[in-house]
Amino acid sequence: MAVAPSGYPPQVDSSKEFIKRQLDPEDELIEVGVAIIGGGTAGLACANRLLQLLGEDPETMERLGEVPVAVVEKAKTCGGHNLSGAVMRPGPLEELFPDLTREQWREEGFAFGEVKKEAVYLTPTAKRSVRIPTPPPFKNHGNEVVSVSALARYQQQQAEEGGAYILTETAATQLIVENGVVLGVRSGDKGRGKDGEELGNFEPGTDMKAHATVLAEGCWGHLTGAAIREFELAEGREPQVWELGVKEVWKVPKPLDRLIHTMGPWPLKISSKYGQVGGTWIYPMKNEKTGEDQVSIGFVVELEYADATTSAHDLLQTFKTHPLVREILEGGERIAWGAKALPGGGYWSMPKLSMPGALLVGDSGGMVDTMALKGVHHCIKSGMIAAETIYAALRRGSNDFSSYDEAIQESSVGKELWQVRNARQPLQKGLILGGPLSGIQQVTNGKLPGRASWHRNDTTPMFVGDTKDGYVKPDGKYTFDKLSSVFISGNATRDDAPNHIRVRRNVPREVAETWVWMCPAGVYEIPDDAPAEGNVDVTVNYTNCVQCGAITAKGGRLTPPEGGDGPLYQIT
Ligand SMILES: Cc1cc2nc3c(=O)[nH]c(=O)nc-3n(C[C@H](O)[C@H](O)[C@H](O)COP(=O)(O)OP(=O)(O)OC[C@H]3O[C@@H](n4cnc5c(N)ncnc54)[C@H](O)[C@@H]3O)c2cc1C
Ligand code: SF4
Repeated sequence: MAVAPSGYPPQVDSSKEFIKRQLDPEDELIEVGVAIIGGGTAGLACANRLLQLLGEDPETMERLGEVPVAVVEKAKTCGGHNLSGAVMRPGPLEELFPDLTREQWREEGFAFGEVKKEAVYLTPTAKRSVRIPTPPPFKNHGNEVVSVSALARYQQQQAEEGGAYILTETAATQLIVENGVVLGVRSGDKGRGKDGEELGNFEPGTDMKAHATVLAEGCWGHLTGAAIREFELAEGREPQVWELGVKEVWKVPKPLDRLIHTMGPWPLKISSKYGQVGGTWIYPMKNEKTGEDQVSIGFVVELEYADATTSAHDLLQTFKTHPLVREILEGGERIAWGAKALPGGGYWSMPKLSMPGALLVGDSGGMVDTMALKGVHHCIKSGMIAAETIYAALRRGSNDFSSYDEAIQESSVGKELWQVRNARQPLQKGLILGGPLSGIQQVTNGKLPGRASWHRNDTTPMFVGDTKDGYVKPDGKYTFDKLSSVFISGNATRDDAPNHIRVRRNVPREVAETWVWMCPAGVYEIPDDAPAEGNVDVTVNYTNCVQCGAITAKGGRLTPPEGGDGPLYQIT
């Protein structure tokens, strides 16, 4: 019998556990002007823009106290937990740093060349590929290939030079809400053992009080989820849906001359029974710093699928054996790996973006066009608009940021997402049934009326199918197992850290298999002697976790581990 992961939710009481109802006494807390939670592209764009505005207004800067802008980032350094394809629409970054040329982006090491040629293929089988005319969402001429991990490091440096206080290795674990207003966040404790006991190096978390709090946690982060519930921000919206991407960067002997996307169906199954929709990218990267020719290659799959044995990691490994890809990687070497989920619901799934004292930017607000796989430019733009909204409010002495929602609607973010608002939903019925309808929505640029609905990924009934039978065996040269992939992600989670993954431990085999195959880091295991049917116990090797976030979409909950734990991405 097919069972859905939503029937086995973990025990989480977000209102009690993740919302703190009272600030600590003044002498025990840190006071800052604006607290930005998440030092990714969106959060740092907000910091960068805010510091530009404050730099020209010393009076307001001074009113914000000793720390006008603080960025809280759980990774070892900004960029450490950031991953994207990424081919970026350049406009918002040019607007954010108007004096920086695209040549300088490349010299700084976060950009790798302008797209001049591109190709889209269908891969009907493991051997064949058919080039097709480039569909509108895949047109990338003039866009730039970037690494968001490297971009975040550059943005961190700019923010620090502008006067920001960047707290890396610090996870924000609670949102502080008093009388219906967000007053800041609390950071997580450090130095706890497996059972939560205090170790010798124990340091308790601290309250950070702020005039404004910006949630820039990436795809529906921990505090974002709590805020959405607390302030009913998703009321009347479609549910959020998710996709999972696994990426590698390869050093290659010869440059790739074009940007490539493939739309399957191989190695996914075309029958709608499997519920699989996904695709791949291969982007050329000329690394000006090292002089190397590199490529970014990745597989993205919607977390809507029904076959529990769907594994983005194994699909990518298998995809690399296709002659189209093998020729590009031949003689090359894998230099980076990582995985991350992204919000796929688009316009109708975006929550309300402001609440008293706080607002949402980037993926936290669901600002991604997954038809085109584009979110980086929206993250930057939304971060900038958030900064401008906060700055205007601070000058008025107000913490009412409600004008932000309208400003986003009227900006390129709202307009672009509106055009594709109904394009992706038909694909929840599968490629064959949903493809033509999705195509009509794309070519009409959103002119057809109506609101297409989404259903939650965790309500899909799962079955243990045969997608797994098509996966290649790792050869350690071109194809790899999950553990060697996690190894090169730089993951450095302490062996005796407390568990940060909330899942039920005894669940039907279909649900357990879903987690085992889905997790790109090999966190979940079913013991060999578990029964073939019925409920099984799941082992959770949480120290392998690369914090991709996918488990939150399929029946579990990722909470922030101790600050500094997790991967240390450099060029993803
Ligand atoms: C596989 C994949 C491929 C993609 N390809 C493209 C592409 O080619 N082009 C494109 O434009 N877009 C692409 N996107 C989308 C794009 O990458 C995202 O929209 C964008 O990078 C999100 O940026 P962000 O700053 O909102 O979130 P993130 O980059 O996720 O940053 C959030 C940051 O917050 C930190 N954080 C989270 N919670 C906490 C907490 N509680 N305390 C402290 N720190 C916290 C995280 O560690 C992280 O550094 C892709 C996304 C994925 C996953
Ligand atoms: S355990 Fe970690 S790496 Fe695995 S799916 Fe969950 S969030 Fe991703």
